[in-house]
Amino acid sequence: MSCQLRVLGCSGGIGGDNRTTSFLLNHTILIDAGTGVGDLQLAELQEIEHVFLTHVHLDHIACLPLLLDSVVGVRSSPVFVHATAQTIALLRQHIFNWLIWPDFSTIPSADQPSLVFVEHEVGQATVIGEVTITPLPAIHTVPAVGFLMETSQGAIVFSGDSIAGPDFWLAVNQVKNLKALIIETAFADKEHQLADAAKHLCPSTLAEQLRGWQGGAEVLITHLKPADSELTIQEVLALDHDHPIRRLLQGEIIEF
Ligand SMILES: [Zn+2]
Ligand SMILES: [Zn+2]
Repeated sequence: MSCQLRVLGCSGGIGGDNRTTSFLLNHTILIDAGTGVGDLQLAELQEIEHVFLTHVHLDHIACLPLLLDSVVGVRSSPVFVHATAQTIALLRQHIFNWLIWPDFSTIPSADQPSLVFVEHEVGQATVIGEVTITPLPAIHTVPAVGFLMETSQGAIVFSGDSIAGPDFWLAVNQVKNLKALIIETAFADKEHQLADAAKHLCPSTLAEQLRGWQGGAEVLITHLKPADSELTIQEVLALDHDHPIRRLLQGEIIEF
């Protein structure tokens, strides 16, 4: 069986048609829950059973509280939110704390909650139907992971928000039958210092990182900040590299 990864949002910000990071995997699994989730129909929201989070930054979780609110009482089973222990603790402390938003892990009751947190760690695979999802090492300003998504047909790697690093490439270089590498390049090179401080990639640091990769799959660039998205992608396309490389497009569907 093959899988479909639908890009709901892949921008580093909002404005106009820009939606922030979220992917829908086979109708029932979300990878991050940025503002792209808000474009789904209510019936599509109700089908979501699992949410895998790379990290807690708002552009990746903005629609999670609202998703839960829209489906509570409609779904007969909870939504499972998969994340690291650190990410779950931050969500409990800062979002689902009855101040910013209710604690849906106790609604309608602690015995039958509409939200169930599931802890995972780097390297720990979760099998859901025909797809296996494994957190990958990431380096960002808060605890973060990327994800490896695999089926019997192939695999996709998503870096999340990260400057990549040796542990990430060590893991990616072991992936069999990789169809696409989705990797962030948030800033243009004129913002190199800001990118380093925010632990995001810019085109020149992307080029350095890609030298650590032995694979040949297509490289899909995500998380471009809207104000400089054209400049950033032009700088990426002008890089000296050995890989097919292009901008990831909102709305596209990748089969693997
Ligand atoms: Zn981030
Ligand atoms: Zn982000």
